[in-house]
Parts: sequence; structure tokens; C-alpha cells
Amino acid sequence: MTEVEWGRLKSAEIGALAARNAVAVVPVGSIEQHGPHLPTQVDTLLAGEIGLRAARLAAATTPVVVTPTVWSGLAEHHMSLGGTLTLDLATFCAVLRCVCRSLARHGFRRILLLNGHGGNMAALTAFANEIGPELQLPVATATYWTLAKDAFAAILERQTTVRHACEAETSMLLALAPDLVDMAKAADAVGPTEVELAAVAGDAAHRYRSFKVRTRHGAIGDPRAATAEKGEKLLDAAADAVAKLIANERFWALPA
Ligand SMILES: [Zn+2]
Repeated sequence: MTEVEWGRLKSAEIGALAARNAVAVVPVGSIEQHGPHLPTQVDTLLAGEIGLRAARLAAATTPVVVTPTVWSGLAEHHMSLGGTLTLDLATFCAVLRCVCRSLARHGFRRILLLNGHGGNMAALTAFANEIGPELQLPVATATYWTLAKDAFAAILERQTTVRHACEAETSMLLALAPDLVDMAKAADAVGPTEVELAAVAGDAAHRYRSFKVRTRHGAIGDPRAATAEKGEKLLDAAADAVAKLIANERFWALPA
């Protein structure tokens, strides 16, 4: 199998990939509380795993390399529930800017910031719109469950998309790291338990709310419905959707 993992490649091998116009995938996660039954590394673990699975699929047609996962994201909204390490917006963008500049200096001309955390989405879109023109190259961003929206809706039974420490994330953890999941505590992690903004004003208006005022236990969704088999299907569906984007030559070639 073609090696796609940046940290396992030698400098000259990475240079050769850049010379072949490889897509550089940068998984972006977060370290934050995931309710009573899941570990804090969920988003970082999933972004990295899906990035690698997608790259291995895409490598048949498209040169591709996956950098180590940016483990820190924007998680202020989880801080009050403990276990969370957050960056502020300026630092988050500064870290990503340095990674993208490094890739550009080594000759990469196509960058995909592959996101695994809801709290990063708005910032990544704004950042991509700034760094693309700055570096004069396409910097794309996508969140894996948004790319795989239809497939995820078909696999999940009690929700239509990824929520938090939910049926989807718990299933994927059961598939990848079952020793880190405490299913005995999943029964206590069903929610939300408090009033949601959307119930008051619809989902068009945004304002900051901490997770603590939305859920007492830190989870949103229904992890009781999680299984490892479902998790493996979700991981494959996500990898498939990301691989299609990596290999979409028209997407990358569109004029900026
Ligand atoms: Zn998560």
C-alpha cells in the first residue's frame, strides 16, 4: 500500500509527493469533554483516522499525503464541563496559517483542512477564505459528517447527523477504541437536557451558549443506540466521501 502518512515519510519522499501535485490533507480536531462515557480525544482521533482512510482510498488515483492531526481547536463552549483544552480564535488561525505556509513552502499546491469538530466549522471557513488568496492556492475545508451527510443519515437510527458524544461518535469509538468507551454510562448521556436555542428562535440566529446550559452530562444525542458495526460503516462512509473530494480534479481546478 502507498504510504500516505506524513510522519512516516522521509523528507525526500514528501518532496516527491509535492512534485506530483499531491493533495495535502490536514486533519483538525479538538480535545474536549465527551460526556460521561467517551474520552476527550474523540474529535482528534476521528479526524485523523478518517483522513488516513480517505487518503488510502484516494491514493489509487490521486497523490495525497496526510499531516499529523492538529489536535487543538475551538472548544470554549466545553470548558465549563471539564477535560477540555481550547485555543482562542487568533491562535487557532495562527497555528493553521503556519501549517499551510509550511506546506506551500515545500511545494504543495492543494490543501484540504479536514475538520472533525463542530466548534471549528465557522472559523475554518473564514480562515480558508483568507489563506487561499494569501498563498495563491486552493485551501479547502470540509467537516467529515457534512460531506457524508446522506450516508450518515441512512446508517444512524436515532439521529440524522453527528451530534456530540452521540450515537455516531460513540459507534465510531466502539469500532476504533472500545477500551476507551464506558457503555454502562451511556444510559445517563441522553439529551439535550436543557432548552435549545433553536427551540426558542429557530436555527437561523446564532449566539454563544456553553454546552453546560444545553446538557447537564455533556452529551447531545443518544449513545445507547451505538454499536461497533455501525461505527465501522460510518468511518467507511466518511472516508469514502472525503476520498471523493480529494480525487475531485474539477473541484481543485476551479478558478479562484
Ligand atoms: Zn466530538
